[in-house]
Amino acid sequence: MGPRALIDLSALAHNLRRARSAAPASRVIAVVKSNGYGHGVLRAAKGLAEADAFAVARVSEGIELRSAGIDKPIMVLGGARTAQELSDGSDSNLELMVHHHSQVTLLENHDSARPVTCWLKVDSGMHRLGFLPGEAETVWQRLSELPSVQGEVRLVTHMANADDISDNATIAQLERFNPVAERLGVQTSIANSASTLGWPNAHGDWVRPGIMLYGASPFLNGSAEQDGLRPVMTLETRLMAVNHLPEGSSIGYGGTWCCPEAMPVGVAAIGYGDGYPRHAPSGTPVLVNGKRVPLVGRVSMDMITLDLRSQPDTEVGDTVTLWGEGLPADEIARAAGTIAYELFCGVTRRVRFEEVDGQEH
Ligand SMILES: *Cc1c(COP(=O)(O)O)cnc(C)c1O
Repeated sequence: MGPRALIDLSALAHNLRRARSAAPASRVIAVVKSNGYGHGVLRAAKGLAEADAFAVARVSEGIELRSAGIDKPIMVLGGARTAQELSDGSDSNLELMVHHHSQVTLLENHDSARPVTCWLKVDSGMHRLGFLPGEAETVWQRLSELPSVQGEVRLVTHMANADDISDNATIAQLERFNPVAERLGVQTSIANSASTLGWPNAHGDWVRPGIMLYGASPFLNGSAEQDGLRPVMTLETRLMAVNHLPEGSSIGYGGTWCCPEAMPVGVAAIGYGDGYPRHAPSGTPVLVNGKRVPLVGRVSMDMITLDLRSQPDTEVGDTVTLWGEGLPADEIARAAGTIAYELFCGVTRRVRFEEVDGQEH
């Protein structure tokens, strides 16, 4: 049997409650961009049904949610890029971020009979998207007067370093953003997962958690368990071979790992073609029947190889867990030099997704 990604809907609901308890005065916009961080956007929206709103990166993602019957507010983090997207976003009642003058121009030319709700993006230090604090108020005034803009124009900013709770950059960003928000007196949205959990002064009226909802830690070297989060995705497969090899046998492409003694080597049916990171080095932990064993040799497209010396009784067909329940995705990400976000988003179509409703604990 090939790899499966088990998606625990009760863990999504649990992690959403965790976000609420961390930011009790804020409403929660659950971020479900990039196919719900690779979990399946509709599946994620189902597990996160108690959220106050959803956020996606692109208009097309918002339309997909609307087409599936989701009627909560949907915020488009990147806003509309073209007149067509603005028109489509307006038809689907999406709330659009305005981060650039070109988007103000689109709104100026937009049909005032189909007004849209807008959030103004302030660049408080990320220096990716948004208006600098010095020009934000002028743009806000301009937007607020446009007949194609509906209701209050709220303010958004995004934190660049919130994952490091000893980094003063977050405080500096707040010091640039807060005066603008106070002068305009409108609702705000500031916090990603790291700010939601780690920076109580950086919440605003609407928090925007993403990764924490999927059960990975937003912090540098963080632990999801310590953050009170439960893993949502468990990626698993089966052993397709157990081979007893002589001392000195080199394993896989390039022969990067050699058996130091006669030993059992397991072959599991998963590889980078499924989204398991090719850069995971020898020694990366994998669970076989719930027990840790080290990966050895290179990750192939369809297979990985495992040192089974500590589990000599394993057999073909036994369960192999790559991350999730019992093995934090953060740990695998660290071993492979990446972040859990990328692991989740990288799981490919070849993997079969199944919803499970794990026990509350
Ligand atoms: C992706 C994203 C988030 C969520 O970030 P996490 O680190 O996953 O919590 C929030 N806001 C914006 C603008 C984003 O792009």
